Amino acid sequence: MSNSWLDEFKRAGAVWLHDGTAQRPHALLTSGLHSDGFVNCTYVTQRPALVSRLLRDAQGLAPKLPKTKIDWVIGSAFGAITFAHAVAERLEARAGFTEKDGDAMALKRFELAPGETILVVEDVISTGGSTLKTLEGIRQAGAGKVTVLPQILCLVNRSGRADLDGHAITPLLELKINTWDAAACPLCKLGSQAVRPKTHWKELVGS
Ligand SMILES: [Zn+2]
Repeated sequence: MSNSWLDEFKRAGAVWLHDGTAQRPHALLTSGLHSDGFVNCTYVTQRPALVSRLLRDAQGLAPKLPKTKIDWVIGSAFGAITFAHAVAERLEARAGFTEKDGDAMALKRFELAPGETILVVEDVISTGGSTLKTLEGIRQAGAGKVTVLPQILCLVNRSGRADLDGHAITPLLELKINTWDAAACPLCKLGSQAVRPKTHWKELVGS
């Protein structure tokens, strides 16, 4: 893994990791849990030139791209739509996305043909839950007649998992980020303030 890409993601504002001091606030997640890091890949995927560069860089995702022929690159809406598009451009494949369908993720707008091979991509894998739903949505759309590559390409893996349902997670960045119940949060005990990342991003990253 290249630390320079971690630095680049930090500079872009896509990754923030707490420095362990009481002066810096830490993250209060939507779930109510507290955390010493936060990932918002929107700050990377909104910059097509940056995505293009990390896909071409020998220290980036270039060596991790599949060598076999891929027909479709599919991500989940909305976070991975543009990333899927960028990877598909590199692989000369088509790009698609799954989207919410009740509690599931379904492939609604794209038609898979028998024998086609699909690469699943994500921007960030946090728990893996939505990626597993995307895999299931593709399986249903493919009706057993398509092959899903046993690899998931992503920008950031913070799930602590090596694979999802037998698909090896292949990230640009592997991050160790802790979460705690508020009552057990060591950063609160230290005196650091817990803030919502999306509304206090500049305070978190210290800019
Ligand atoms: Zn806390």
